[in-house]
Amino acid sequence: MRGGRGSACGAWRRLSRRLKRKAHCALRSPRPPMIVARIDKSTKKCIMQHKVILMEEAKKSYTFGAYVWFGYMLPFKEKLDAIKRAGFDNICLWWDDNVINCDGSLAEQIDIAYKFDLHVEHAHIPYYDCNKLWKDCIDGVDLMNMCIKSVELAYCLNVPTLVMHPFELKKPVDGSTKIFMERFKKITQVCANKEIRFAVENLADNDCLKSILRSNNDNPYVGLCFDSGHNNIVSKDFSLLTEFSKKVFALHLHDNDSISDSHLLPFEGNVNWKVFIKALKNTSFTGSLMLEACFPFDYSKLDTENSEKIMLPDIPMDEYLLKAYDSLKKLSSFV
Ligand SMILES: [Zn+2]
Repeated sequence: MRGGRGSACGAWRRLSRRLKRKAHCALRSPRPPMIVARIDKSTKKCIMQHKVILMEEAKKSYTFGAYVWFGYMLPFKEKLDAIKRAGFDNICLWWDDNVINCDGSLAEQIDIAYKFDLHVEHAHIPYYDCNKLWKDCIDGVDLMNMCIKSVELAYCLNVPTLVMHPFELKKPVDGSTKIFMERFKKITQVCANKEIRFAVENLADNDCLKSILRSNNDNPYVGLCFDSGHNNIVSKDFSLLTEFSKKVFALHLHDNDSISDSHLLPFEGNVNWKVFIKALKNTSFTGSLMLEACFPFDYSKLDTENSEKIMLPDIPMDEYLLKAYDSLKKLSSFV
């Protein structure tokens, strides 16, 4: 049966003819004239000046971050909820599945961070036995492979920066620089391939750290994680920030009395924060002021009868985190 005027087929043909006519008209109709706003020279100058001010402001202001371990043994979700509630925008994770029972897998942790709108700015590779990276032993090779796997996992889970300890405190006296450097090169070649930044943290041997960074200066994915507390024990200057001003990839901010690495909040010890901020401002660092402070936690008492009390400090978690946030607010007021 042919489609007559009343049939569905006929109606379809009429509609398609109308649409074609419309499209044809649209093609032939002239384009509406473009409206160009006329901006005089002085307005243009003002806009440019404002842009420069905004860029300078963006350069000067830092967001705030907190390491997920801050002395409270609570479920991961609860800790992240509290970190977000206190006002932080970024976090640092411990990059190891050893905490899977209490915190979940790394993929799960990143998923939870995403749900709380917290950016995982960097993650810390485990440093147990890291002096073996300098020694001709199978454990050293295993450690190197663990680092490479960590980089590959960071790539898969979109974590842009990893932090590593090159040694436990200082370069081991019986360690081989050649062995360490060869292993470090292998790890950081993977970093370059995967575009993951590898930040080496200062501990108690800034001279050795400097030589590692200097000899890997050609790799743009090798840089520094500046730890304010460790620096305060070994040196009162901020020459690490000055020399590697273009290579500061991460910060670990905490305070102490220059003697013990107590991971106090900024302004609870004697770090010269004004001088620190002055040095930081002269670097190209654009990440967050990341706290690596921790409510004083006595690990030696963890397995004693009082362990429950130790696991839950006297100050409520929210109170501690607000205090932590305020310490960063005070710090950023020096910017
Ligand atoms: Zn640190």
